[in-house]
Amino acid sequence: FFCGPGLPKMAHRWSMALRPALCPGPALRPALRGMRHLTTSTQTSESGSLLTGQPLRIVAGKGAMVYDDAGKEYIEAMAGLWCTALGWGHEELVEAAASQMRNLSYYHCFAGRQVPIAEELADKIISLAPENLKGGKVFFGMSGSDANDTQVRVLWHYNTIRGLPQKKKIIARAGGYHGVTLASGSITALPHVHAQMGLPLDFVRHVSCPSFYRYGRDGESEADFVRRLAAELEEAILKEGPDQVAAFFAEPLQGAGGVILPPAGYFPAMREVCERYDVLVVGDEVITGFGRTGQMWGCTAFQQKADFLSCAKQLTSGYVPLSAAIIPRFAYEAIEASTERRGGVFGHGYTYTGHPVSCAVALKMLEIFERDQLLEKVTQLAPLFQQRLLGLSAHPLVGNARGIGLIGAVELVKEKETKQPYDASRAVAAKVVQFALERGLIVRALPHDVVSICPPLIVSAADVNEIFDRLEGALSDALAALE
Ligand code: PLP
Repeated sequence: FFCGPGLPKMAHRWSMALRPALCPGPALRPALRGMRHLTTSTQTSESGSLLTGQPLRIVAGKGAMVYDDAGKEYIEAMAGLWCTALGWGHEELVEAAASQMRNLSYYHCFAGRQVPIAEELADKIISLAPENLKGGKVFFGMSGSDANDTQVRVLWHYNTIRGLPQKKKIIARAGGYHGVTLASGSITALPHVHAQMGLPLDFVRHVSCPSFYRYGRDGESEADFVRRLAAELEEAILKEGPDQVAAFFAEPLQGAGGVILPPAGYFPAMREVCERYDVLVVGDEVITGFGRTGQMWGCTAFQQKADFLSCAKQLTSGYVPLSAAIIPRFAYEAIEASTERRGGVFGHGYTYTGHPVSCAVALKMLEIFERDQLLEKVTQLAPLFQQRLLGLSAHPLVGNARGIGLIGAVELVKEKETKQPYDASRAVAAKVVQFALERGLIVRALPHDVVSICPPLIVSAADVNEIFDRLEGALSDALAALE
């Protein structure tokens, strides 16, 4: 993840040399395909967490394709880090950024200042928000991590205002990913984020991951599994004391934890428990927001009623950093009233909060999203995507294939019947990712030998077929290498 002295400088030189050749478009790509292929990247599974060997240096992108510094073309079937909804090199986004920079390259939202384009974007986001957040307010940051930190600060402040300063604990789930700052990284429950850090900090507790495939017990129905998890949540709240627990954090589907979809009825059951003990629900829509599941919000797809909602990534298609923490009206009004009463401020905000360039790009992204009917396109393409994904279940390596909309994953096992995984040292998912790279496909290895697929929303049916053809080939390459 680190860049700096001592690392090869070639990327820049290749980047300059290749960009003019790459960007004119598809006509030149066949020529580039013949160039030397750089396939030295050995990506380990994220449970091992670090990239070893040579990183893959991506120097250009157009549409759903990216190019490395040797000119090799890849279908980017992870939308970068689950974010590039409109694909690479979208001229309208580029122009939105450029013209905003010309007009007002920077201003801030501190000390009696406001950036009108940030207000415009906040209004737009609220108009798209789930029904129960329609009267809410938006706080802008730069990353999913800081959006979740903001949610924690708002929750703590809100509870203090209402006379419950001790109601600070957060309950989240094993396998959840919410960022890497000290607060969001504590709420995250992936071992490599906690290792060597003394995390999670003491205000966080974790309950079980909702993977029925992996954690459902022999003979247990999905409904029983949900009941067990709801009972576990209740037990956790009672153990801490309901007067201590502020919120339950959950992604509608767990992304980095392995694209884990909740079992039917899961969120309503968890919500019922939360309501019983005055525990608020924070929906982390950093991956699922803006159409990924075929619905505008993942919480709609999975009946998760969230009191607070975090989003980022696809909001700007990843072109510039921006996150939005949506705060419900009741919390905002309480904070505003207390500020007036006490003459103080809620001391929170960043230099780049409401950055005009990020807001301009987000507004353009949402305009294109609606104009080009991307939600409808995802809905139309999802059956093919999901059919091809489920088709991988027949592969000897695949224990479970799962997904929704244009996101999915395969979980790889040694023995399908018993779901026995391969020994971690075999790094099976990492092998699949490596063979996929050789076939010109970028997918991602996640914990528990899961391989995820999450392409830009602008992919075509032909792209989807190509992604799954190449992935199937990579699975077979990996199987052969294991034997
Ligand atoms: N929340 C979820 C669900 C995510 O998937 C991520 C990142 O992948 C984050 C939060 C953290 O976002 P960032 O990397 O922008 O801090």
